[in-house]
Amino acid sequence: MTALDNVLQPFQLENHAAQGRLVRLGDSLHQVLTAHEYPSEVANLLGELQVIAALMSGTLKFEGVLSIQIKGDGPVSMLLVDVTTDGDMRGYAKFDSEKLEKVLEDGAAGPQQNVPKFLGTGYFALTVDQGPDTHPYQGVVQLEGATLAECAHSYLRQSAQLDAAVKVVVSEIENASAPNWRGGGIMVQKSAFSGFQLIDGEATDADFEDAWRRAVIFLGSCTNEELLEADLHPHQLLFRLFSEDGVRVFDPSSFAMKCRCSADRVRNVLVSFPREEVESMKVGNDVVVTCEFCNVDYRFDADGIDTIFKEVDAL
Ligand SMILES: [Zn+2]
Repeated sequence: MTALDNVLQPFQLENHAAQGRLVRLGDSLHQVLTAHEYPSEVANLLGELQVIAALMSGTLKFEGVLSIQIKGDGPVSMLLVDVTTDGDMRGYAKFDSEKLEKVLEDGAAGPQQNVPKFLGTGYFALTVDQGPDTHPYQGVVQLEGATLAECAHSYLRQSAQLDAAVKVVVSEIENASAPNWRGGGIMVQKSAFSGFQLIDGEATDADFEDAWRRAVIFLGSCTNEELLEADLHPHQLLFRLFSEDGVRVFDPSSFAMKCRCSADRVRNVLVSFPREEVESMKVGNDVVVTCEFCNVDYRFDADGIDTIFKEVDAL
């Protein structure tokens, strides 16, 4: 088996007590985290949110774009990640370098306290946009938890009413010629009792609860190294973790870093402002708009600005 990368692997326990997803991200994560010069603490948080968005994209049924935005009053004031049904991912973070340095100097709280330490108090919002003629769905919860995985868990419990367990890890791997960011995650969610099966005999509520608890314990036994290991096939890892109850895997889907920005979209944004305001954005003769996600510059010279506003006036 060749190991798969940038992949979402859905699975289900043979006893139907739980279903879940395994996510591993290589290039798709590395490219997002290196599009800007993020301090490693910020890159870590953004990468974790990317893994969480990937897990959520396999959990919630949708056709379109799923985005997760976190806003806080800490040194990292915003994290934004989105993923489409086709697996296109992008994301970016906003942070205050001075505040971040101060928090790092103070050195309070261990590495497991990333959320209170770097994001502070705020909210976790998940939006699903399924296109022009639909109502976007949004669920918002308070930022609750020491880690982003805990925040995701509390979102699933409060907003999606799902009993779930989530494990997420992101790390910069040093063994390659250049360091590479990698991320992995795994979640299980409790299935309905009605589908639960025992090999022999009538299944009781207590059997079901036992089976669910075992699934959570097996998930907890998964190490960070296993989640990050590029050469370990997702099937092998799942069979290793859940072999006691048996596990069935379904077709995987893949992820890639792909931004949806375009010159057309930037033009539409520019013409939504009064012309004087756009003129005042000029540096030299040009207006340069940089995509916050992928860091690509869109440059419009004086003639270009003239043209787009003439097109609007002609409408
Ligand atoms: Zn872009």
